[in-house]
Amino acid sequence: MGTGGRSGLRSGKGNTEEVAGGRGNTDGVPASLSVDLTPCRYRCIECNQESNELYRDYHHGVLKITICKSCQKPVDKYIEYDPVIILINAILCKAQAYRHILFNTKINMHGKLCIFCLLCEAYLRWWQLQDSNQNSDPDDFIRYAKEWDFYRMFAIASIEQAAFFIGIFAFLWVKQPMTENKKPNFILLLKALLLSSYGKLLLIPAVIWEHDYTPLCLKLIKVFVLTSNFQAIRVSLNMSRKLSFLAILSGLLLESTMVYLFQRMEWDVGSDCAIYKFQEF
Ligand SMILES: [Zn+2]
Repeated sequence: MGTGGRSGLRSGKGNTEEVAGGRGNTDGVPASLSVDLTPCRYRCIECNQESNELYRDYHHGVLKITICKSCQKPVDKYIEYDPVIILINAILCKAQAYRHILFNTKINMHGKLCIFCLLCEAYLRWWQLQDSNQNSDPDDFIRYAKEWDFYRMFAIASIEQAAFFIGIFAFLWVKQPMTENKKPNFILLLKALLLSSYGKLLLIPAVIWEHDYTPLCLKLIKVFVLTSNFQAIRVSLNMSRKLSFLAILSGLLLESTMVYLFQRMEWDVGSDCAIYKFQEF
C-alpha cells in the first residue's frame, strides 16, 4: 500500500489486537456483534454506505483494504493514492474524491482556507478599484486610504460570502423534509462548502498575470467554484442534483440581493466605489 495517500487520513484500521480481545477477526470472517455496535466513522466512496474501517492491519506489513458490504467495491480506494491524484480527481469534481476528503480524512483547514480565499477575493476587488480610479484623483494614492479600501473590500466579500451560504442553508432548511437525510448535518455542509471554495485561490495568479482574457478567466473561476460547491452539497448531504442546483441558485439569489443593496448604498452615499458596476465576480 502506498503511503502518500494516507497523509491526513484518520486511523481507519482494524487490527488483530482487537481479535485477541474478541472484538474482531483475522481473515475476513464476519465481525462480531461488539464491532457492529461501534459507530460507523467512515463512508464508502462509491455508494455512501457507512463502514467501520477503511483497511485492516494484520501486522508485519500486511494490510487489506476493506470491501464495502453494499457495493462489493473497496470502501475507499483513495487511501492508496497519491495526494496529487486525489487533488486532480477533486478538481474534476468526482463525487468519490469528495467523499474521501469529507468523510474519510481529518482535513481541518477549512477555516484558514476560507480566510485566505476571502483575502484573494478582497485583493481582486481592491485591484479593480485601484484600476478604475487610476489617474482620477491623486489623493487616492495615499497609503492609508489604500489599506482602508482593502479592509473594506474584505468586509464586503465576507458579507457576500455569508449571504451565499445563508441562502443555501435557508433553502435546505425549508426543503429538509424532502431530502433523503432527515437531519442534515449542516456543520459538515459548512465545512464542505468552505473546502470546495478553494478555486478562489486562482484569483491571485489571474490578477498577477493580467492579460486581455483576465475577465473571461474570472468568470471561469466563478463557474468552477460554483460547480465545486454544487458537488460538495450533493455529496455531504447525499441529495439529488436538482436540489443541489436549486440550493446553489438560492445562495446566488441572496448574494445578488446583497450586492444590489451595496450598490444602492453606494449610490446614496455617493461613494467613489464604482467597483460594483462591473463587479460580476
Ligand atoms: Zn459501497
